[in-house]
Amino acid sequence: GAQAGQYRDVPRVLAIAGSDPSGGAGIQADLKSIAAHGGYGMAAITALTAQNTRGVRGVHVPPAAFLTQQLDAVSDDISIDAVKIGMLGDAAVIEAVRAWLEKVRPGVVVLDPVMVATSGDRLLQESAEAALRGLLPLADLITPNLAELAMLVGGEVQETWEGALEQGHRLSAATGATVLVKGGHLAGDQCPDALVDAGGRLNQDVVVVPGQRVATRNSHGTGCSLSAAMATVQARLGDWEATLREVKPWLAGALEASETLEVGTGNGPVHH
Ligand code: PLP
Repeated sequence: GAQAGQYRDVPRVLAIAGSDPSGGAGIQADLKSIAAHGGYGMAAITALTAQNTRGVRGVHVPPAAFLTQQLDAVSDDISIDAVKIGMLGDAAVIEAVRAWLEKVRPGVVVLDPVMVATSGDRLLQESAEAALRGLLPLADLITPNLAELAMLVGGEVQETWEGALEQGHRLSAATGATVLVKGGHLAGDQCPDALVDAGGRLNQDVVVVPGQRVATRNSHGTGCSLSAAMATVQARLGDWEATLREVKPWLAGALEASETLEVGTGNGPVHH
């Protein structure tokens, strides 16, 4: 439910995600995105990555018990209006997050089912994909890209928007969560996003927000920034459609502004 955190001027938003020391993705992007939307950002780190704009060199996942200690330290003291979940690393981490979510029941839970970075490096062990599926019913909103969506419903990666919406509907029906279907990986100059809900929690089954593709290779951290923004704005507005209509143009602006950054020689970060 989205009740507990609604209508706060400065929502308290916890990112449960991995660290990108080059600042473009992961909790570093989450905290910038939360701040850009007027939230108070917090971060419990699931995994450390050694990476830059060219790719991931290493991943270190600390013991899951220490993640639980971080999560409990925050929730024992601070009321959490929204949670954004990103990179999880392995099945033990997923289990720790699942147990904590069931105990604390935050008002807004956005889950970005991060599996593989754009560079091709794995951010979730393949053996943990089943465990990730088990976590999805605890989310209010799931934000897969097209490859993640296909994997989660056990289908082929869709090349058409209609096919993607159909998979989004299936994922929503299977999990009871609203699904944000993201058009960012479609071919062509249109880049729509849509909220899909099989359980009647939106005004319509599907809310499509159209958009134009921003031509840039600097898209590192786009998904992280988007899911953190959705969590923060939802805690303020309590309405996914209004939240997406606020966040989508902001993300397009962040992609456009990425051209003004000079960070790295690879797939550079979005700028917000
Ligand atoms: N690194 C971390 C810690 C992440 O959480 C993510 C994505 O969620 C990435 C890297 C991948 O970023 P991108 O695919 O935008 O390069």
